Amino acid sequence: MRARIRLRPRVRSLRPVHPAAWLTPALAAATTLAVVLVAVPRDGGGPPGGTHDNSPGSAAAAAAPAPAGKAEPDARDVVLAVHGGAGTALKRDETSPEKEKAYRDGLRRALRAGQRVLDAGGSSTKAVEKAVRVLEDDPLFNAGKGAVFTADAGHELDASIMRGSDMKAGAVAGVKHVRNPITAARLVMDETKHVLLAGQGADDFAAQQGLKPVTQDYFYTQRRWDELMKAKGKQPVKDATKGTVGAVALDRKKDLAAATSTGGLTNKMAGRIGDSPVIGAGTYAKNSTVAASATGQGEVFIRGAATATISDLMEFKGKDVASAAYQVLIERLPKLGGDGGVIALDRAGTFDAPHSSEGMLTGYLTRDGQLVTRIFQDESPPGR
Ligand code: ASP
Repeated sequence: MRARIRLRPRVRSLRPVHPAAWLTPALAAATTLAVVLVAVPRDGGGPPGGTHDNSPGSAAAAAAPAPAGKAEPDARDVVLAVHGGAGTALKRDETSPEKEKAYRDGLRRALRAGQRVLDAGGSSTKAVEKAVRVLEDDPLFNAGKGAVFTADAGHELDASIMRGSDMKAGAVAGVKHVRNPITAARLVMDETKHVLLAGQGADDFAAQQGLKPVTQDYFYTQRRWDELMKAKGKQPVKDATKGTVGAVALDRKKDLAAATSTGGLTNKMAGRIGDSPVIGAGTYAKNSTVAASATGQGEVFIRGAATATISDLMEFKGKDVASAAYQVLIERLPKLGGDGGVIALDRAGTFDAPHSSEGMLTGYLTRDGQLVTRIFQDESPPGR
């Protein structure tokens, strides 16, 4: 894999600050609840020991800049990739070794979980579900445990999954009691004739399917609470990697699949649904084109039909995966007023992860077992 930097015009970050009402009665009640909850360490979740030998950071920093605007794949022969959200870049000099390790370990654990499925001959759909479940259970990421807070101090989670072989898809939106929304989404795909269930009906469906409900405080982390407080106070949030998670995979049968899961955006209005559960916006998979999972300003990804457009550019314009993803993420979406990124994988194993946001957390696994995680800006520069 050859790492490279592409020179791109700076893309303005247009993250919103929601003008939510300050301290609604619900928020005051939740504040009381929060103080009795046990705080989770900000960087909790990573096992101790070991260094990462797989990060191409120094190679990327030393690589010659590629011509501006040239969309080239990040890697070839990829069978599985994950992302841990787009947002502010993690800075090397401000990131403790423990924090770096926690992020890399989180991405690695997800890749390993998906790899076990693929190595055993399992489907790409199963692999992306497993990988996303690991990230949902990791409090570092904004999905499942560790999900961000809504404006009224609750948690509302969105997830979707799509299978490339028959374009079947399932999604849940605004669930409040599902520990692993991605599994609920997979059950919608497998067990119903619908694609998207929302709110109470989706929570009830998940419980009926045997997913043990969790209370809202299961999702609590001190870090996300602090972010809500900062957002309410209109202070910038440091290290605002948004933390949505996703996965794309290619199995032995050459079937593609994609999955995405999120808590949404900090301080979002109650009832707001982003792109992550919207097929064609946050998630898409079609064997003849691409498996794609997005992260970023959800409203813009919905308006720009982000992942479906990547697929359409490949299908109808004959573009390769990197050019199509580049065109949507770098050329289209910023003009609509938002930033973010995507992981995109085609049936040949060509992988690209362009993002207009300052940073994006990604990891991928190649057919021959090479595992790469990228968390710093020099490992995954914006505008590419
Ligand atoms: N796309 C997600 C949403 O808008 C958030 C993110 O990816 O950071 O809900």
